[in-house]
Amino acid sequence: MNTAVIIAGGKGTRMGERGRRVPKALLPIAGKPLLEYQLNLLKSHGFKNVFILTNHLGEHIEKFCGNGSRFGLSIRCLSEDLPLGTAGAVKSAEKHLTTDFLVLYGDELMQVDLKRLLAFHARQKVKHKTLVGTLAVHPNDHPMDSNLVEMSSDNLILSFLTKPHSPELWFRNLVSTPLYVLTPKIFEYIPEGTHADFGRDVFPNTLRTQKNSFVAYFTPEYIKDIGTPERLREVNRDVRSGRFGKMSLQHKRPAIFLDRDGVINKEVGNLHHPQDFELLPDVAKAIQSINASDYFAVVISNQPVVAKGLCSFDDVLHIHKKMETLLGREGAKLDGIYFCPHHPDKGFKGENKKYKIACDCRKPKTGMLERAVKELNIDVKKSYFVGDSLRDAETAGNARVPFVGVKTGYGCKDIDVASTKNRIPITLKKDLLRAVNFILRK
Ligand SMILES: [Zn+2]
Repeated sequence: MNTAVIIAGGKGTRMGERGRRVPKALLPIAGKPLLEYQLNLLKSHGFKNVFILTNHLGEHIEKFCGNGSRFGLSIRCLSEDLPLGTAGAVKSAEKHLTTDFLVLYGDELMQVDLKRLLAFHARQKVKHKTLVGTLAVHPNDHPMDSNLVEMSSDNLILSFLTKPHSPELWFRNLVSTPLYVLTPKIFEYIPEGTHADFGRDVFPNTLRTQKNSFVAYFTPEYIKDIGTPERLREVNRDVRSGRFGKMSLQHKRPAIFLDRDGVINKEVGNLHHPQDFELLPDVAKAIQSINASDYFAVVISNQPVVAKGLCSFDDVLHIHKKMETLLGREGAKLDGIYFCPHHPDKGFKGENKKYKIACDCRKPKTGMLERAVKELNIDVKKSYFVGDSLRDAETAGNARVPFVGVKTGYGCKDIDVASTKNRIPITLKKDLLRAVNFILRK
């Protein structure tokens, strides 16, 4: 794929006086116009042709880009006569877009490994013949006032959950982002000459007409809009501090692996009802601190309740929705949730035989951790494991990462520190917040 579309028609209405004079796409981030970051990102991933759809103050963008040669790209600016919405604008470029193309927005700063996204899209296209597009989704720290998607276990988008959300809704923290790979099939679903937005109109309408039309691409990479002066300041800070440069999955980042029961939520023993799931004190604060650092926050949890027949696999997913909702309400997000539904001991009443197997994922084995390492390009050597039991400490030992035990849940009572610490580096802390503070101070 070598063609991208940047929708840069946005008015800077929330940006004050400056937004009236400069299009959002040209607002400076650490001294460089936002659009230049996007063009550099596209160039570095082998893109050749870029169509920029302009409207508000479009002549400034045209002047800035020229024909694109100074960015090593071929750029064409197409100006809309009428503000047609995001989808309407892309429809006006239909004749140029005869193969799959990437869409991004002129008011977003992103650091994304586009190669991974495109490879994912290519795999999904083979799997789902009806695919119209791949939409990037990510966890953010304010999911309840964001548009969300519901995704199946094989990445199909089941529904678009547009805000406002009911306070009773438990959801996965899968926030729609303005980054898509679309096939030309999309044009069948965009009305001609009328106002239409992708998020509000075209994607939900397409999904209603054509099942299995979209897949979600989950990414914890850096994707932020600069729609308000406050967000503009935030992204400026992230670029200047160097944080922004490290946030693509092309670069290795360390993780803090977290056990679930007894570390994040109250230990109740075989938790299998969502109503029993309660966050421990200060957990959201602890995970927020991880989110503000260079570490990923990744849950690694044994859930033999599935194998034991106490609940279904989907019930565990539902409990995780509650976990992400409660954390999201307090501004915290998880970059990955991995759980093992298996249990090796057979022959109990009510058990679910399908899951009664000796697997590679059940802790203290490292299968889940290895999957996370692969999917998030984690730097294992700089990572930590936080847990409340010997099984977690053994997992950390097997993965060769230092273990930080907490006094909540099982409280690491089954660990004889003196005899274990020869094999596994162990530190004990009162709770997750103290454990995280300890790790981040190092
Ligand atoms: Zn397993």
